[in-house]
Amino acid sequence: MRKQLATTRLVLLGTAGGPTPKRFRSAPASAIVIGEDVYIVDCGNGVARQMAIARLSAASLRAVFITHHHSDHNADFGNLLLLAWAAGLTDEVELIGPEPLGSMLKGFFEIQREDIAIRMADEGRPSLTELVSEHEVNEAGVVYKDENLVVTAALVNHPPFRTALAYRFDSADRSIVFSGDTTRSPNLISLAKGADILVHEVIYHPAIDALTSHSNAPRLRQHLLGSHTDVTEVGSIAKEAEVKTLVLNHFVPADGEVDERTWLEEARRGFDGKVIVGQDLMVI
Ligand SMILES: [Zn+2]
Repeated sequence: MRKQLATTRLVLLGTAGGPTPKRFRSAPASAIVIGEDVYIVDCGNGVARQMAIARLSAASLRAVFITHHHSDHNADFGNLLLLAWAAGLTDEVELIGPEPLGSMLKGFFEIQREDIAIRMADEGRPSLTELVSEHEVNEAGVVYKDENLVVTAALVNHPPFRTALAYRFDSADRSIVFSGDTTRSPNLISLAKGADILVHEVIYHPAIDALTSHSNAPRLRQHLLGSHTDVTEVGSIAKEAEVKTLVLNHFVPADGEVDERTWLEEARRGFDGKVIVGQDLMVI
């Protein structure tokens, strides 16, 4: 019998962790695609271009979810909205994430005030500011609902942020959970319970020393070890959450220092389910 493809697709747009531009992986961003509708989780630099390469129409954007305000996760949230609008966006988009998202959006609209005004007058476009509605989320619970899906957030542990979020997307045929950036998190494990797919961040401790061999090394090393999850831990997290598939994401380091086999073998510890080493533009 022919295997039926899931209606809800997960597209990994950018799988690197950290703010510096990388050669082999783009900055954090993922898409959930249901029919023509596109939902974006995190907006690292280049998200709109990655969507174009993945043949996802920016004009089909329904909602954008930001996990936390490190720049590798939010650098392009404004650009994504602006470029989606330039690509023909006419329907409302919801922007969801921790405070101070509202003032950040206002600031972005101010930066691009002239472009927005000129395109409205010169190209007859609708008002971008009226198309975007923002919703600050600072606690756990349902944060978004439409005819395709329900999205639930949980608070995870990514110090020194007061609010860092994980998101669970439940559609008619699939449940997909994004860890965001976090250490091993009981809240995430509860959120992900029984999900089809857990997309989890990973760092690789042995490679961190090489990565932090420059001037701000001690502080950076401390941050990486105290705010993220080592790849050897994610298998037990996936097992405890009883998910079917674990997708590795937000690789640190991300520029080819650790080979795919190492990521896979370390992540498999203690987990019998399927493990996928995420790659940019992978469709799951
Ligand atoms: Zn972060």
